[in-house]
Amino acid sequence: MGSLSVFDVAIVGAGPAGSTAAYRLASAGKRVLLVDKARFPRDKPCGGGVTLRAARLLPFSIEPVVEDAITRVEIGLRYRSTFTRTARLPLVYMTQRRRLDEFLLRKAREAGAHVEEGTTVDARDLDARYVIGADGCNGTTAKQLGLGGGIGHGVALEANYPHDARFARTMVLQVALLPGGYGWVFPKADHVNVGVGGDESQGPRLRTALRRMCEEYGIDPDAAAETRGYRLPLRTATTVLARDDAALIGDAAGLVDPFSGDGMYEAFLSAQLAADAILAGDLAGYAAAVERRITPLTRAGWGARAAFDRFPRTTYALARLPITFRAVEKLLRGELTHPGAARGLEKGAVKLIYSVAKAAAR
Ligand SMILES: Cc1cc2nc3c(=O)[nH]c(=O)nc-3n(C[C@H](O)[C@H](O)[C@H](O)COP(=O)(O)OP(=O)(O)OC[C@H]3O[C@@H](n4cnc5c(N)ncnc54)[C@H](O)[C@@H]3O)c2cc1C
Repeated sequence: MGSLSVFDVAIVGAGPAGSTAAYRLASAGKRVLLVDKARFPRDKPCGGGVTLRAARLLPFSIEPVVEDAITRVEIGLRYRSTFTRTARLPLVYMTQRRRLDEFLLRKAREAGAHVEEGTTVDARDLDARYVIGADGCNGTTAKQLGLGGGIGHGVALEANYPHDARFARTMVLQVALLPGGYGWVFPKADHVNVGVGGDESQGPRLRTALRRMCEEYGIDPDAAAETRGYRLPLRTATTVLARDDAALIGDAAGLVDPFSGDGMYEAFLSAQLAADAILAGDLAGYAAAVERRITPLTRAGWGARAAFDRFPRTTYALARLPITFRAVEKLLRGELTHPGAARGLEKGAVKLIYSVAKAAAR
């Protein structure tokens, strides 16, 4: 790899977090090294749903790799009751990680980042002014840098099935299916992605739950391709995200929403916050920025998760109110930074869900 000291910033991991951090820093004139152990295109177990809120954070469009755009949401409670809501504008873009991540890596490269694929490094040997750990849930950088710690996990299992036009533009969710989780059907251009997730303790139940999810939606469970399980990292108050010359972003920092299991918004935003902090010469300030911009959402996520776990029917009834969907619509589109920022009637609906969450936490 030659001398590494020619770099201002070394980033380990070229997923959504690492590649977008590299793009931002290289675009601002920093000399950036971006290292990934994989060669691209590579896949990553993921539903591939990019909320509009997440897509809007990026300084370029991901349109070239979008395969469907969700305007219809179908929400069920443990297969017993279902309601459908239609949005005026797209809420979530559907892509495949194989395509999205290669696209984002190309953007980083075009911006001037020096990319090393198929390479593993010890973060302690990287001779750059700043080191960013973006190597995901199973990465080793956090430990090498003396960061991280205190990260818990959720688990999810997913597979791809033949396409069915019935699911086009539609996001199907079955809430409270498992403790701490839900089931989904996400449409792609030539297949549908079906998955189930929940608390780490639910691992042994996921195979049966995925089969049932398929059967309930008339999808042949035996037509599954690329079935894979993976962990979702969830940070706690003790997780250390940064010091003055090193930081963790995305899954490496445990920045996944505890309710939705989404992590791409948090990956893009933490990448932006870390890049901004480096450009301002204050990487230690990154942790405070995460606290300000991401923690309110994470807290709301824990609340929603507890509410659905403890009082599934009440929470579902509240979620069903048309006014709640207005708030959800705004959240997914990035027009509301976190549920607590809702106004008017929507604020009332959010307050009711908060009070259920509070009762659930007692
Ligand atoms: C089943 C499932 C479904 C999901 N669905 C969604 C969804 O629909 N929408 C959503 O927003 N989020 C979803 N998520 C979460 C989302 O996948 C993650 O939050 C997201 O991938 C985080 O991006 P990242 O860049 O931090 O890490 P990753 O995407 O995990 O990227 C890490 C990169 O680091 C590399 N790496 C690892 N170790 C090393 C090493 N030692 N040296 C060098 N490189 C290394 C890897 O090869 C990889 O390229 C889902 C997660 C799961 C498990």
